[in-house]
Order: sequence, then C-alpha cells, then structure tokens
Amino acid sequence: MASQAGDKTPNGNGKRSFREMIGVDLVDLYVGPERAHYRIHKEALCGKVPYFEKMFKGGFKEATSHSADFPEDCSESFDLLLGWVYSDTLPPIFVESEDHGTFYGSWSAHKFYALAEKLCLHGLQNSIMDKLLSYYRKLRLMPSTSTICMMYDLSPAKSPMRRFAARAFHWITRPTDAAKEDWPLQGLHNAMMQYPDLTLDFLELLRTTTEPKCPYEFDFCTFHIHDDGKSCNRSRQE
Ligand SMILES: [Zn+2]
Repeated sequence: MASQAGDKTPNGNGKRSFREMIGVDLVDLYVGPERAHYRIHKEALCGKVPYFEKMFKGGFKEATSHSADFPEDCSESFDLLLGWVYSDTLPPIFVESEDHGTFYGSWSAHKFYALAEKLCLHGLQNSIMDKLLSYYRKLRLMPSTSTICMMYDLSPAKSPMRRFAARAFHWITRPTDAAKEDWPLQGLHNAMMQYPDLTLDFLELLRTTTEPKCPYEFDFCTFHIHDDGKSCNRSRQE
C-alpha cells in the first residue's frame, strides 16, 4: 500500500500548541541604564530560559511583581534573546559597516554570547558561536586585538569564547608579513600586559601545539559545550 499524507494527526501529537507555549500571562523586563521595556509572554520566556523560570515561578519578588530589572545588560542582546525565545532562530551576521579595513557586524555576537553564557543556555551559546565562526570563515576575518581583549572581558575562565580568542591570538602572532602589519607588536604586548589570563592561555597553546591554526578552520564543535558529551551533527555548521 502506498504511503499517504493525512491532514493532521487525529489524536494530537503530544506537542504543545503555540497558544499553550506562550500562555496569556505577561511579564515586564527593563534592560540597561535606559530601562528599555519589554512585555513578554511569561510561559514562552520560562519555557526557554530556566533562569527566568526560577525568577518568575519561584519564591523571588519578581514572581509576584511580574517585573524584573537588568540594569547591567544591553538591550541589543535582549532583542536577540527575546527574538530567539519566540522564533527559536538567530538572524545572520552580515557586514554593516567598514572603516579602514575593520568590519563591523550587524549584531554583536560577543555580547550576546556573554548574555547566553550568564543565563547558562548552552545550546544557544553553541548556535551563537556557529554564527560567529561562519561570519569569520565566510569573510576570512580575524578578530582585532581589541576584540580579543573584549572577549576576555566578557567571559569567565574556561569559556569557549576565551578558547576561540586564545586561538585567534595564537594565529596572529605568526611570523608572517601580513600578521606583522595587521597586528603590530605593541598591540600584542599591551594585550598581554592587560590580560594575564590571555597571556596564560596563549603560553599554554605555545606549549601544547606545534603550530598555530586559523581558529575558524577548526571543527565548530571545538568551541561548543556538549552537555551529553557528544559532538553535534556536522550538518549544523554553515
Ligand atoms: Zn558541537
């Protein structure tokens, strides 16, 4: 008998409908010093972010006020986070502007990664890292010394973002004319003086690797978190 397509599963498929997923209750989030205001479906937010589930469904004051402040975060990252809560996707990163050979992306993957890391959203961290690596790979870009330092500012020790930054730093110290021109010695020295953790990670790479490797040429899983200990499906890489 040939396979046929029915209109829908007669008895439901066990998945929650969109209406059930978002619910009807709303919560208010105020982000950054300018207190950018978001009014969000509580069920959608708590379903995707366990941190907010504890906040709005636990014993904290936010559970009764239905409101929370995030003065130290930025609205650009919350725009991306809340877009992801509803759509489960991230926008592509593209070059928005260029100034004397420095390319500026359409959104800051580094800052958004830091927010996802703070909220312990490992799957989202991996997706952001994939977007960032795809962007670097497609345009054959390498982070500037100041961007590498920013990655250290935004992330804790052992963070995958620091792993990527240290690999990039290792790569730009190669004795090539292009590297010498684009990443002058003084800038590298300043970064190493100001960021001892970067210096330590860099020295560890010198001790443990035979030669630098371009960071965006690694398997993307090198900079992922795998909670189950397994690698992702490579088809996720763009
Ligand atoms: Zn992976």
